[in-house]
Amino acid sequence: MKITIIAGARPNFIKIAPIIKAVQKKQSEGKSISFRLVHTGQHYDKNLSDTFFEELNIPHPNANLEVKSGSQAEQTAAIMIAFEKDLVQNPCDLVLVVGDVNSTMACAIVAKKMNTKVVHVEAGIRSGDMTMPEEINRIVTDSITDYFFTTSTSASENLLKYGVESSNVHFVGNVMIDTLYQNLDRISAPSFWNNFNLETGNYIILTLHRPSNVDEEKSLIDLLEGIDKMVENKKVIFPIHPRTKAILGETNLNLKNILFVEPQGYLNFMFLIKNSFAVITDSGGISEETTVLGIPCFTMRTTTERPETIEIGTNTLVGTSIENLKELFGAFLKSGLRKAEIPELWDGKASERIIDILLSK
Ligand code: UDP
Repeated sequence: MKITIIAGARPNFIKIAPIIKAVQKKQSEGKSISFRLVHTGQHYDKNLSDTFFEELNIPHPNANLEVKSGSQAEQTAAIMIAFEKDLVQNPCDLVLVVGDVNSTMACAIVAKKMNTKVVHVEAGIRSGDMTMPEEINRIVTDSITDYFFTTSTSASENLLKYGVESSNVHFVGNVMIDTLYQNLDRISAPSFWNNFNLETGNYIILTLHRPSNVDEEKSLIDLLEGIDKMVENKKVIFPIHPRTKAILGETNLNLKNILFVEPQGYLNFMFLIKNSFAVITDSGGISEETTVLGIPCFTMRTTTERPETIEIGTNTLVGTSIENLKELFGAFLKSGLRKAEIPELWDGKASERIIDILLSK
């Protein structure tokens, strides 16, 4: 069985790492399975790409399509054109895509049109918010996927509701959590840990990169200033995403508690999350990691495609206003974190389940 694995952006690298390990394990057991790794080049900054390959021991990609940035259509089209050529030259049995970025959708379309079976890992999750480019990527990808691997029973139910045949839907758990468990004993403090006088539980982590929070400079500044005041004497570490940095440009901000740092590598970032007092974010992946690590997470969005992080995990859906955040953060300060649980099958073995199932097809 020949699988082409697609990765294009930071969260993808974290998701493919354990899948590749699971394939390699089967190879070492003598199973007939091989993979080819295609990096689309959607994320190309060292901080968002190379660092993750190095830290997570992901093999050097067999091809880098080097599409870089562009509008939604430009980027999607560039990936499709480049990947079609790659797939013509390197035919395979399955194209495996993960998550919900433009590379996920673009490569799924190319594969399906070339009659190659599509595997979607993290299929079926839905926010219901059609203003999010990721939601469109999810819907289009799932409409042409052959084998669906889900992180939750609600994601599986979504797919069945859309008429997907149940024999092709497999609830296997969460590959991002596989990576977390595989690396927990390797996480380490970043170089600024001592300089900023950080200690376990004395700081908050902030990440923001979704258009709804960062594309309007004025509302982004209002949010940052509001958070800066709200946290009183706690430091806030803000690894700033290139997209957010570009919006703020040279703006002079008068912030007392928020400390800007570069996007962090996986091992430093997980150390920061694991030892934080709380996390404020608009990332979906981070709300999964905080749920497993038992760290309170405040999500600055009006919807989520990961309801389990709210229903049984540590996540609180805030909305995008600072007033809501102040109220919900204040309530947490008063009453502490409600009892949380780790979702079913988020046990570090999802990738092995996926490869076992693919080998049985
Ligand atoms: N992440 C990281 N360093 C950072 C910020 C995030 O390693 O400075 C990791 C994070 O732990 C998670 C993934 O990147 O595993 C999430 O990426 P992002 O927020 O870009 O994607 P989303 O989850 O919003 O799709």
